[in-house]
Amino acid sequence: MAEKKDFSRVLHIALAGNPNSGKTSIFNGLTGAHQRVGNYPGITVEKKEGYFQDCDCRINVIDLPGTYSLTSYSPEERIARNEILRKDIDVVVVIADSTNLDRNLYLLLQVMELGANTVLVLNMSDEARAGGQKLDIEQMKVLLGIPVVETVGHRGGGIKQLKQAIQDAVANPTHGERLIYNDDLEAALARIGDLLSPGLPADSPPVRWLAIKLLERDQPRIQWLRDNVGNAEDIIQLAEMEIAQLEKNSDENISLYLADTRYAIIAGFMREVRLSEMRRDARRRSEAVDSVLVHRVLGLPIFLLIMYVVFWLTFTAGGPPMGWIEAGFEHLAGWINGLWPAGSESALRSLLVDGIIGGVGGVLVFLPNIIFLFFGLALLEDTGYMARAAFLMDRFMHRFGLHGKSFVPMITGFGCTIPGIMATRTLENERDRLTTMLVLPLMSCGARLPIYLLIIPAFFIKKWQAPMLWLIYIIGIVLAVVLARVLRSTILAGEDAPFVMELPPYRMPTMRAVLMKMVERSWMYIRKAGTVILAISIVMWALTSYPKAPETDAQAEVQEAQALEYSLAGRLGKLIEPVTGTMGADYRVATAMIGAFAAKEVFVAQMGIVFSLGEVDEESTTLREKLKSNYTPLQGFAMILFLLIATPCMATVAVMRRETNSWRWPMLQFWGLTFLGWGLATLVYQIGRLLPM
Ligand code: GDP
Ligand code: MG
Repeated sequence: MAEKKDFSRVLHIALAGNPNSGKTSIFNGLTGAHQRVGNYPGITVEKKEGYFQDCDCRINVIDLPGTYSLTSYSPEERIARNEILRKDIDVVVVIADSTNLDRNLYLLLQVMELGANTVLVLNMSDEARAGGQKLDIEQMKVLLGIPVVETVGHRGGGIKQLKQAIQDAVANPTHGERLIYNDDLEAALARIGDLLSPGLPADSPPVRWLAIKLLERDQPRIQWLRDNVGNAEDIIQLAEMEIAQLEKNSDENISLYLADTRYAIIAGFMREVRLSEMRRDARRRSEAVDSVLVHRVLGLPIFLLIMYVVFWLTFTAGGPPMGWIEAGFEHLAGWINGLWPAGSESALRSLLVDGIIGGVGGVLVFLPNIIFLFFGLALLEDTGYMARAAFLMDRFMHRFGLHGKSFVPMITGFGCTIPGIMATRTLENERDRLTTMLVLPLMSCGARLPIYLLIIPAFFIKKWQAPMLWLIYIIGIVLAVVLARVLRSTILAGEDAPFVMELPPYRMPTMRAVLMKMVERSWMYIRKAGTVILAISIVMWALTSYPKAPETDAQAEVQEAQALEYSLAGRLGKLIEPVTGTMGADYRVATAMIGAFAAKEVFVAQMGIVFSLGEVDEESTTLREKLKSNYTPLQGFAMILFLLIATPCMATVAVMRRETNSWRWPMLQFWGLTFLGWGLATLVYQIGRLLPM
């Protein structure tokens, strides 16, 4: 789209901050965009960009991944640092959580070390105030020499002032000049800088920062020096001498010395600007709640119970509206049927009624349930409970060789596997990352939900529906964890990185954020049904309708069965029936299982098509009732089990290929999971048949 407005200037600003400091909320406040926010660390993995207009400037905003520091080398810290170092970044806005300022300022120091033109945002100022903290903002501005703004990110408080502060910073740029360390260190930095600056190429990073990096013995920087500067060895030698001197004077090793120096600056700074401390009890409320919710023994059962309540809500609250939508589609089908003379063989009628209403309609009826599930999950995320769940799981997952950080991608996987796989980019260790990606499809995604919602109520009485759904999710989680253990002790064996998870305080979620998330995800469901699922449904309908069987004078019922077997899909189903039969799936179900590879919802659509085409009289019964009269609960359960575990969808395979840059891992995942799913479903079905029922 062409920009109509002629901006006199284009500015670039980057948002940096600790995880969960409210960066995305501020980003949304500035740009009006609706990026996902969530009360758990590590949501923003890829950098996001947006823009806003101020005066006659166009201001591009980049939301960087959350980091505590810029020194270590996880992918997101690297991304953040490289973005800040970009020459065209005009302002770096550091977003700090005011309730935890001491730690958040560490990042600020590092950004200032980089020589960035910085603005400090004191976010969560509402909570800090409520907790009794008072800050001398004017004094902060003086000491730091940069603009400082208080905000309440999720409610848009202070955004106007922040925009003004950005303009101020552009008008009077600073480069971290006020950041001055102790005399020893500054003298050392100056000496290194003097030797360094003459030989530096034009586009190199700031001298002072390079000098600090040399003191830190930062390997990539040393390498860079060797590649770009003539007297690199002299400089490195000088740095080593300075390190030795500083270590001798301070009696500390250099990295500890540098960290201590930064913390000393922060401590001194805070003493001058903090007029009153946060009351201890402000954090204590969260801690009191946590003493129950993340209790060593009670924590896990409570987690399971809360998940159970969410699923129960999905069924009970979603049930009635589902019935209305179902009735609506039945009416529509009846009306369309009425347009043709009774018993007509019109292909168009069949496409509309059997293909589209049977297929897409079958998927859309579950919208209410989906909405309630997403509402529940959004609520858990925004209150901060999901972070507790992650914490609980961290202890548990370590024992199984999964990294604690894997939990966020895995939770994301409940929505959809694709963003889950993308989110594994936060994992530093390649083996941790592969393990997580490989088991991720076992976190039952939103697209599989309609399958359960179709099959469970068909075979189980009301009382058992929520427990069954809960059980399926738990089976997925347990399998993922066990499989991870197996992978980590076989093909992906190796040391695991320690990780300490941080718990954000509990927060009252804003209804707006929760509803936004719910609407966004539900809309995705509708959109997918109207596009991808619609297209595939039409293809599946054609495959299931053609070629037409020759007319016979057999009974109508027999004829219908023959027509299905005669069609392409039917023949394919028959071909693999010997394999799927061991788990109780006949050729009709087999066709739907093949379709599910394209997208999981297609299973439901294809079952709808098969039973809509195969209908003897047009007497209206729901698909659920048809399933009930054709299959046993045991068969139903085996189907669910297979579909939960087997055949990760096409999109998953594609993303795995892209993220691992090979076919090896996606193929291992696809066939491994498919075989496992088939094996378990077969086992359950065969054992189940032996039991008296
Ligand atoms: P990010 O991880 O840094 O991108 O943080 P988010 O923008 O996702 O915010 C984390 C959580 O803090 C969300 O639940 C927000 O609704 C909440 N939040 C953000 N800013 C504020 C604030 O100023 N005050 C309060 N009380 N909550 C906030
Ligand atoms: Mg974020």
